[in-house]
Amino acid sequence: MATPPEPEPFSLTQLHSGIGNKVRKSYIQSIVFSCRRNSCILLPMNKPVILTGLRANNDLHIGNYLGALLPIIDMARRHADDYQINLFVPDLHSFTTPIDHSQLQAGIMNNLRVFAAAGLPLDNPNIHIYRQSYVPAHSELTIILNSFTGFGEMSRMTQFKDKLDLRKIPRSQGESARQDSFSANPKNAFQQNHVSMGLFDYPVLMAADILLYGAIYVPVGDDQKQHLEFTRDIAERMNSKFGELFIVPKSAKEQHEFFGKDQGLRIRDLLDPAKKMSKSDASGKGVIFLNDTPEQAHKKIQSATTDSLGEIKYDYTTQPGISNLLDILELFGGRKHEFIGSKQYGPLKEAVAILTGQFLEDFQTKLEMVDTKALEQKLAMSETAMCKIAETILAKVQKAVGLRT
Ligand code: ADP
Repeated sequence: MATPPEPEPFSLTQLHSGIGNKVRKSYIQSIVFSCRRNSCILLPMNKPVILTGLRANNDLHIGNYLGALLPIIDMARRHADDYQINLFVPDLHSFTTPIDHSQLQAGIMNNLRVFAAAGLPLDNPNIHIYRQSYVPAHSELTIILNSFTGFGEMSRMTQFKDKLDLRKIPRSQGESARQDSFSANPKNAFQQNHVSMGLFDYPVLMAADILLYGAIYVPVGDDQKQHLEFTRDIAERMNSKFGELFIVPKSAKEQHEFFGKDQGLRIRDLLDPAKKMSKSDASGKGVIFLNDTPEQAHKKIQSATTDSLGEIKYDYTTQPGISNLLDILELFGGRKHEFIGSKQYGPLKEAVAILTGQFLEDFQTKLEMVDTKALEQKLAMSETAMCKIAETILAKVQKAVGLRT
C-alpha cells in the first residue's frame, strides 16, 4: 500500500492557543498516518484532549464511578465531536501497592467492560480506550522525567506518605524500623513495609500518562489533585528548560469549572465518613462495590455511621455521614432538600438504598450486555493509534534531552 505524505501536525502551542481554537472551529483535519502491519489508520490531531485512568487493583466502587468515570463519560457522550477522549487502564499503576497478580488480567478487562457499561460510546472515533503497558512510551517517558523530579518532592506526596505510614511510629523507632528494613533481609524489608519504588514514582508515571497526549482536562477525584499539580509543575519545569515540549494541563480550579460539581468529588466510606470510600479498604463494609447486589448495598447503607444530633443538615463538619448520604442520594437522582431539616434518619437511608439498588441493577444488566468482541476490536485500534501519538511526543522529549539527533 502506498504511504500518503505526512502533513505537519499542529504544534502543541498552536493547539493550546488561539490558533488551536481556530483550528478546532474550522475543523481542519491534521492527520497523522500510522502504518503498522500494512494497515493505515487516520488520527485526527486537532482536538483538545480529555483523559483519565482507572486502576485495576480491586473491584470498582460507586466512588470511582461517580468521581472518575461519570464526568468523562458524560463529556464523551455530549461533546465527543469537540474533544479527543482517552480513557485508559493504568495497569502498571495497579500493582504499586500489593495485589493478587492472578486477578490482574481479569481486573483490567473488567474495568474496560465497566467503561462500556457506563455508557462510553465505543463506535466514536474520537474516543480511545487502552492499557497503559501496551503503550511503551509511558514507561520510557517516566524514566526520563525521573531525572527532573526531586526526591523531596516525591516524598511530600500525600498518597505516598499515607501508605508509608511510618509517621505513626515515634521517630526513634521509625528510624530503626527503616534501618532494619533496608539492611537486614531484603525480602522481609519489602514485605514489612509494602512501600515500593513504584509507589514512590507513581506521580511521575501519572504525569507521563497525561503529558504524552497533551491532555488539558483530567477528571480525577479529590485525592488525585496533588498528582495533577505535580504534572503541571513537571511540564512547566521541562518547558522552561527545553522550550515547548508539553501542554500544561489546566489547574484543578479550571478543571472544576469545566466539569462542574462532579470534579473533585469525594464519596466517603459509609462506616468511617472521615475517610474516602476506597477499593483498598480491608473490610469493604463501608464500600458499595459496582458488583454488590442491591441487598448487599441496602445492608451497608442501613449500617452507615451517622450521628446523634437528631436533625438532617448538609454539613460535612458536624454531620459527615449524613452529608455523604445526601450526596449519594443526589448523585443517583434524588433530592437532598426533601430530607434536610427532617428529624428522622431512617427515611433518608431507605431512599439512598432504593436509588443505589436501582442504579446497581441497571448497571449490572448493562455490564452483562457488553459486546466483548467489539470491545477488543476497539482496544486494538486505540492502542495502535495511541502508540503513534505517544511515540511522537516521546521522540520530541528524547531529542530535547539529547538522546536523539
Ligand atoms: P481507590 O482509592 O478506591 O483505590 P483509585 O485510587 O484507584 O481508587 O481511584 C480511581 C479514581 O476514582 C481516581 O480518579 C479517584 O480520584 C477516584 N475516586 C476514588 N475514590 C473516590 C471516592 N471515594 N470519591 C470520588 N472519587 C473517587
